[in-house]
Amino acid sequence: MYYTKPIPPLQSDFWDEVIKDGCWDWYGETNKAGYGLYDGAKAHRVSFQHRHGPPPHGWHVHHQCERRTCVNWDHLTAEHPKRHRVLHSRYPERVWLFDFDLGL
Ligand SMILES: [Zn+2]
Ligand SMILES: [Zn+2]
Repeated sequence: MYYTKPIPPLQSDFWDEVIKDGCWDWYGETNKAGYGLYDGAKAHRVSFQHRHGPPPHGWHVHHQCERRTCVNWDHLTAEHPKRHRVLHSRYPERVWLFDFDLGL
């Protein structure tokens, strides 16, 4: 799965939807899988890019904390899709396959 659309910049209104407490939980709009949506993009990708720069083309942004609503950039890593699949292979199959197909 490849992302061709650039990730939008994080603006100050991003924080209107976030409560910071270890994990930074997103309380705004979410997609069907429960991931935050910001300006048409996944909120955790917006946060990642703001702190670390854009992930390499085609790479996924992974939650080390395994918390879908979290947008704490210290909990996020950019992963090659192949490595991402391996990271998720320890989850119950139903969960990781679903997430992986969505490029999360
Ligand atoms: Zn987190
Ligand atoms: Zn992941």
